[in-house]
Amino acid sequence: MTHDATLSRLTGVDLRPLEQRLRGTLLRPGMPAYDSARQLMNRAVTRRPAAIAQVADTRDVVEVVRFARDRGLPLGVRSGGHSPAGHGMADDALVADLSGMKRVTIDPGARLARVEPGVTSGELAAVAQPHGLAISTGDTSSVGFGGLVTGGGIGFMVRKHGLTIDHLVAAQVVTASGKLVTASEREHPDLFWAIRGGGGNFGIVTEFTLRLAEVGQILGGDLVLPASREVIRGYLDYVMDAPDELTTIANLMHAPPFPHIPEARVGELVLSILVTWVGNESEGQRALAPLRALAEPVADAVGLMPYSAMFNFTAHQAIPIPHCIRHAFAHQVSEVAVDVALDAVEHASSPFSMVQFRGLGGAMARVGAEATAFAHRDKRYLVSALALWMDETADATPHRAWIDSLWQAIRAEGAGAYVNFLEDEGQERIGEAYPLPTLARLAEVKRAYDPHNRFRFNQNIAPAVQA
Ligand SMILES: Cc1cc2nc3c(=O)[nH]c(=O)nc-3n(C[C@H](O)[C@H](O)[C@H](O)COP(=O)(O)OP(=O)(O)OC[C@H]3O[C@@H](n4cnc5c(N)ncnc54)[C@H](O)[C@@H]3O)c2cc1C
Repeated sequence: MTHDATLSRLTGVDLRPLEQRLRGTLLRPGMPAYDSARQLMNRAVTRRPAAIAQVADTRDVVEVVRFARDRGLPLGVRSGGHSPAGHGMADDALVADLSGMKRVTIDPGARLARVEPGVTSGELAAVAQPHGLAISTGDTSSVGFGGLVTGGGIGFMVRKHGLTIDHLVAAQVVTASGKLVTASEREHPDLFWAIRGGGGNFGIVTEFTLRLAEVGQILGGDLVLPASREVIRGYLDYVMDAPDELTTIANLMHAPPFPHIPEARVGELVLSILVTWVGNESEGQRALAPLRALAEPVADAVGLMPYSAMFNFTAHQAIPIPHCIRHAFAHQVSEVAVDVALDAVEHASSPFSMVQFRGLGGAMARVGAEATAFAHRDKRYLVSALALWMDETADATPHRAWIDSLWQAIRAEGAGAYVNFLEDEGQERIGEAYPLPTLARLAEVKRAYDPHNRFRFNQNIAPAVQA
């Protein structure tokens, strides 16, 4: 079967006019690069788009959107490909793949960075570091800016510097009608509000302008403690009121064979606390003392380092593997939830599976709930269960059963969802990501900018119905 015949079976649309106008590459089923291009970070998800437009620049994005608009084609959007739901690719759709749009321009004097959506967290950190600048993004170097920023961005310095969207000054957006607009506090302020937490519902962002923070050396690394009910409780209680300079992400897991973990302790149940202290070193050491005092550490790999080096501690997370996730924001984490998590990880279907506790608050909580579409500003914790396994060909059933049972036991403690951590979990869960007033406002913005719901391969918000 020829490429075109394959395509016509899928969509019946002649893509050659688009191919001729693109500076980038149009990949179709059967072409050698198609199969690698449709791969996603979550290897438990497989998608077969009708075509993948690997765009070169904003003009290409406009071409793709207009082509899809004129022919009524379903349109997917990919930047870094890290959506747990696999929304970076879509079956039988034309996908705009922005992973090649990787330009970064930094103005150190103004502390501004213009960042294309295919840039990853690690790439920006590496380029900004020599200027003594940084931005709080996610915990993994390979996550793409396109999805990260439009969803919120909860990173290593969230308590000190807020969410990634809190650094956003302006964005270039190609709307569903194929128009390129600037969204900022002054121009299209409703769109600017919505793309800060509303996900990919409102258009394709082709450039983010972000204000960077002055971040030189940090006190960071991995403090690994033996896992017990008391240690987890002590951690949860301490990080709630710790200074804003301290952000932590704690993984309840089996100790991995990392260089800083003694070989004899590998496989032990541990609480691996990734710490980032942004501030004076001796104050940081004092702030860490209560965590170190919770138990004799299995490993203490915390020291002065450039911020970008934090990603070395999560390098394994940047490797594509099959996974599934259930998560919730929480005001508090009960003794029951801690016990359930301990038991679940100890008896997990995969030795790589874990439960993650993130302490929130600080700068993130000082932005008003209505200021952006990310409204869960007051939540103290983000708790996630992650089933992670290595073999893509393995049956996922035991891992899904593990996470389902753990989730059922703790979900009642949840107080909201994070759009960027959702899988395809249904409309009710999308509703948990947004309080009703936020959801209603998002639906209005959706009606204004994408009335026909062309951007629908996402945590979808339906356009408001005309009154
Ligand atoms: C290993 C791992 C670690 C993670 N760690 C964190 C973390 O610490 N903090 C955190 O906040 N999140 C984290 N995430 C979640 C991550 O923020 C989301 O998965 C995010 O959507 C990824 O963006 P992407 O561009 O890589 O994904 P993609 O799969 O390419 O995109 C996901 C969706 O985002 C939208 N989108 C993508 N690009 C654009 C664009 N240019 N314009 C408009 N919409 C767009 C589209 O709807 C798309 O379907 C993590 C995910 C993984 C897999």
